[in-house]
Amino acid sequence: MLERIAAAAEQAGRSSEDVTLVAVSKQQPDEKIDAMLATGQRVFGENRVQEAAGRWGRRCADPAHAGVELHLIGPLQTNKVREAVALFDVIETVDREKLARALAQEAGRTSACPRLYVQVNTGEEPQKAGVAPGEVDALVALCRSLGLAVEGLMCIPPEAEPAGPHFALLAKLAARNGLTKLSMGMSADYELAVRFGATSVRVGSALFGPRG
Ligand SMILES: *Cc1c(COP(=O)(O)O)cnc(C)c1O
Repeated sequence: MLERIAAAAEQAGRSSEDVTLVAVSKQQPDEKIDAMLATGQRVFGENRVQEAAGRWGRRCADPAHAGVELHLIGPLQTNKVREAVALFDVIETVDREKLARALAQEAGRTSACPRLYVQVNTGEEPQKAGVAPGEVDALVALCRSLGLAVEGLMCIPPEAEPAGPHFALLAKLAARNGLTKLSMGMSADYELAVRFGATSVRVGSALFGPRG
């Protein structure tokens, strides 16, 4: 996996060090995650706060989890913000004003805040989370006005469409907002995403096998 990411980066004239593999451990058995940790992989993605808390919640006390960086890649309800801020190093799914305000409030309370990405619904699919492309600038500006440091943008392209145009759109929206990080690309298209400038790819099944 890392070799293929590195090769895709090189082909695109980029350094492999500029692309982080987020190993998506949701719904995977502990043995597979332990094996992944044993390879040295340290960045993991989870899409549910509760499931992630069960697996990683005591990671400060668990030497096997030393150095793990945890990303939330699923939707975040405002009533889970406190738990999410305490658990995750990166929240990739900021997609509405109410959530931004709740994160800012929690960051003020604890004087700590995860790194943040704004999730963009590039395909404008009604069932999918994420802010519409036309509302990205306003949400990023709002986050900044609340004192939240947005680091980048994240997207999940529509399944039935070629992903390239969605990756290109995300890159354009990020550049326009002075953001340098792009979380895009999953098992089926992570190499393509790297060619379009992904700085992190979120890979689950291609790394661990099918989910339980
Ligand atoms: C599950 C998930 C992934 C990983 O999907 P795979 O196709 O198994 O690589 C990536 N991103 C998000 C947001 C996910 O929910």
